[in-house]
Amino acid sequence: VKIGVGIESGDRLLVRSFLDAVDLTRMIVDEAYRSGAENVDVLWSDDHIGRARFAHGPDSAADSVSGASDWLRRSVETGDHVLTVVSTDPNALADVDVERVARFRKANFEAAEPFFDAMGRLSFKWSIICTPNLAWARSVFPGSPGEEAVELLWSAIFRTCRIDNDDPLTAWAEHIADLNAREAHLNEKQYVGLRYDGPGTDLTVSFPEGHHWEGGNPNVSATFLPNIPTEEVFGAPHVDRVDGVVTATKPLSILGNLVEGFRFEVEGGRIVDASAERGQSALEQLLRTDEGSARFGEVAMVPVSGAVAREGLIWNNPLFDENDGCHIAIGNAYPTSLEGGSAMTKVELAAAGLNQSSVHEDFVVGSPEVSVYGIRGDGGEEPIISKGEWGFSV
Ligand code: ZN
Ligand code: ZN
Repeated sequence: VKIGVGIESGDRLLVRSFLDAVDLTRMIVDEAYRSGAENVDVLWSDDHIGRARFAHGPDSAADSVSGASDWLRRSVETGDHVLTVVSTDPNALADVDVERVARFRKANFEAAEPFFDAMGRLSFKWSIICTPNLAWARSVFPGSPGEEAVELLWSAIFRTCRIDNDDPLTAWAEHIADLNAREAHLNEKQYVGLRYDGPGTDLTVSFPEGHHWEGGNPNVSATFLPNIPTEEVFGAPHVDRVDGVVTATKPLSILGNLVEGFRFEVEGGRIVDASAERGQSALEQLLRTDEGSARFGEVAMVPVSGAVAREGLIWNNPLFDENDGCHIAIGNAYPTSLEGGSAMTKVELAAAGLNQSSVHEDFVVGSPEVSVYGIRGDGGEEPIISKGEWGFSV
């Protein structure tokens, strides 16, 4: 409530939560009112309810706009800040038609477009957190029976979110200061591009003119942290200027299906070949979503000694995965990846070279064997990530 959405006197808060997180959600609502919130609403869902549409509904159910999307759109008008509490099984939708899932997500992204647009521009305070459930915990700790896996996952989440610390608020302030200093360093450098080098990865990326890195607290008047945990400093590639091959180093849950062992060949910014050892059809469905869903929208730097990676786990969860290592996002770029981008229209952002899509899926490419170099205007290279660790000090 204080670090994530920075609730202050008079704020309105919308909590999007899962039924597996009832106890935590009640605590969040209590704390939000104690921090001065004037109104707190909770929008509930869970894996069972989400899956029922595709498992038992008619085909047309995949094209309908849910009331939740209407609520999200309206929350922009009422000036709500938004905390999203996610508790999902990485394989929740494995046995339903993935094409329907993609259709539903697209239709509802479009219906709630003003909400997602304002979110990307950081126009309201928002944060995303995740809490354990049995299915997710078992996928992370397959050797531990039932509830023991849930306890292990809670402990890992507490460590990565700095909650086990004597003074979590100070620990977060120090960590945010480090990320902000790294953001400032990279913005000052104004590299023209990046080169990724590792096993199965040989990729070059160019930046759009006036590119901007973000890390820690967004540079806006309000204090909040879009993700907890967060270990990244990120920017965006030019939509047409990514070339080479890139291999994912961690599995990724796409459209409710676990996708493993995947790699992309990229030409002129577009993924021209995609192969996965598991989950190929979900991956292909994602890439087919729209114009921008076979292009990249984000390049993020995360050290392998970060609080999330230190746990040495395979998280099977997008929020924890993206903070586990350097990642690249398939799909939409954030307007903040361009200097002054928050005030630009979508047409202006596209013209400046930022990718536009209804999807945004981060996949991990980092490991102790992967290095990322910043390319200077004169063609020389400087390490940003060296064998998995920060290649520069601040
Ligand atoms: Zn990221
Ligand atoms: Zn991302």
